[in-house]
Amino acid sequence: MSPSEPTRCTVAMPEGRLVGPGTHRYAKRFADLNGLYADRAAYQAMLAERAETVVYEVTDLRPSERAGDMIAGVTRMSPGRVGREFFLTRGHIHARADRPEIYFGQQGQGLMLLENPAGETRTVAIEPQTLCYVPPFWIHRSVNTGSSDFVMLFAYPADSGQDYDIIARSGGMRSRILDDGAGGWVEVPNPDWRPRTSEQIARLLAAA
Ligand code: ZN
Repeated sequence: MSPSEPTRCTVAMPEGRLVGPGTHRYAKRFADLNGLYADRAAYQAMLAERAETVVYEVTDLRPSERAGDMIAGVTRMSPGRVGREFFLTRGHIHARADRPEIYFGQQGQGLMLLENPAGETRTVAIEPQTLCYVPPFWIHRSVNTGSSDFVMLFAYPADSGQDYDIIARSGGMRSRILDDGAGGWVEVPNPDWRPRTSEQIARLLAAA
């Protein structure tokens, strides 16, 4: 096997997209995010007008999915709230749960909400020039806590994969990020959250 060719991409601003040969894009519309937000009534009320609105999009470069290779890209999320809850990404744990990720703030203000298999949470506030390291074994989701587009660069091992269902299986992440009504945010417990069993935790941690 001969080495693949180097690639040059640029981060287009203010669009918040990775541009270059071989990049591809996917977008999540408001209608794709049913069930993510605590305030179901507020979600339904917004749905009629905003169903097709893009809430977040990802453009990435995926040279391959081989172990040892790397995937990198840009994520852009619009500002907004459903009820008091800030716009967020679906979130995931890596299908190979021992794979890490880095995020690097480019524009706007937000945070990474993380949860480990045992159900402990962390928040990492991110603004331009902030590097957030997501260690192996942490569920992660980003949240736009600002009033403008939130844009980050990311990179992770190419064979990581994503398990999006882990969050739904537990009734959501253990906490939610709400507008505190004073220009900031507050982390509150999610009453629908169900802890993983010790067997489920052991299975996740054995993924190494
Ligand atoms: Zn990830």
